[in-house]
Amino acid sequence: MKVLVINAGSSSLKYQLFDMKDESVLCSGIVERIGLNGSRLIHKARGNKYTIESDVKDHKIALRFVLDILTDDEKGVIKTMDEINAVGHRVVHGGETFSGSVLIDENVMKALEDNVELAPLHNPPNIMGIKAAEELLPNVPQVGTFDTAFHQTLSKKAYLYAIPLRYYTKYKIRRYGFHGTSHFYVSSRTAEILNRPIEEMKIITCHIGNGSSIAAVKYGKSIDTSMGFTPLEGLVMGTRSGDLDPAIVTFLQEKENLSYKEINNILNKESGAFGLSNGLSSDMRDIEDAALKDHNDSAKMALDIYNYRIAKYIGAYAAAMNGVDAITFTAGVGENSAYTRADVCSYLEFLGLKIDPNKNSIRGKETVISTDDSKVKVLVVPTNEELVIARDTQKIVQNIKRDEEEVV
Ligand code: AMP
Repeated sequence: MKVLVINAGSSSLKYQLFDMKDESVLCSGIVERIGLNGSRLIHKARGNKYTIESDVKDHKIALRFVLDILTDDEKGVIKTMDEINAVGHRVVHGGETFSGSVLIDENVMKALEDNVELAPLHNPPNIMGIKAAEELLPNVPQVGTFDTAFHQTLSKKAYLYAIPLRYYTKYKIRRYGFHGTSHFYVSSRTAEILNRPIEEMKIITCHIGNGSSIAAVKYGKSIDTSMGFTPLEGLVMGTRSGDLDPAIVTFLQEKENLSYKEINNILNKESGAFGLSNGLSSDMRDIEDAALKDHNDSAKMALDIYNYRIAKYIGAYAAAMNGVDAITFTAGVGENSAYTRADVCSYLEFLGLKIDPNKNSIRGKETVISTDDSKVKVLVVPTNEELVIARDTQKIVQNIKRDEEEVV
């Protein structure tokens, strides 16, 4: 079975075509700057990289562009579109409706539309991606995989905020959590690598990238996570503040006469490492270089605060689970920054955790970086959300086929 995985953002559409026979990626790529000047497709297949510029007004044209290149004689990897057996879509917000991947039908589309209010920036482009795929591949089953789904196992004590309960009832204000597909993949791999049943393990997964979140995964289920009602809560991120006293919001609004949009923009786009480093960069590579090579004080401070917050969350989640067997780092910073991993772990020696500096010097490779006698294992596991989406899509589509056959 060949599964096309699509991740549609507001101005981009990423794709990967999987051959599920051996879970290999036949090709991958991205259409960038949809609806803007200078739109282009970057396509990777058989070790080659192609960049093709073209006007791409909307997501349907973007997907058409992708399908054309997939079937191109020279750059493509399939002969006709009929070889695509299913499409899996990444959807950011499934609200309380979805606790797992689903076959997309009219009811699911309606539920997605209902959840737009909860993710006004993310769900609309996801929906556009689905509609484009339905139009261009009308007879191909479409599956949705939700960033929030893995965290639907949180209990009330973890997901409710201490504000009047009526706001949960009225607006569904609660912790949803994000990066769920990544936390699921990375925690599953952690158990596999350590050769232990996940049902017996307490794992803390640290997805540290441009957006960052941590999850406490107890016996295979997410029991708490740092992102909340929106992806703004929790860790210090590239441009997002993460946790802060909510009174700061109203205080700043009043002092600086800021509208809702302006304060939202400050907290989402001008804060985090970018804000703390006086606008030096939101990219943690730049922050690390400025802090460690150029001895830039504000970059050093930003990096200290960034790492300290991660360590605090790990401490909290070790308490939430009454112990921790393994801590796993993933995503851009987690997979690549030996400094952040070592600095975070230096706070956690009280857990009997020890890092091996040699093992920690790797990048982007599955590795156990703790010492053999470390009580808590520490790992690096590159995330692979697309593979989870492809697997879920395959499973759901095979189940429908089986059901159809039984009916016949
Ligand atoms: P992601 O959102 O997962 O793509 O992660 C992007 C973040 O990873 C950016 O802040 C990058 O600067 C960061 N990153 C990538 N490589 C490194 C590295 N070698 N050291 C520190 N940060 C890195």
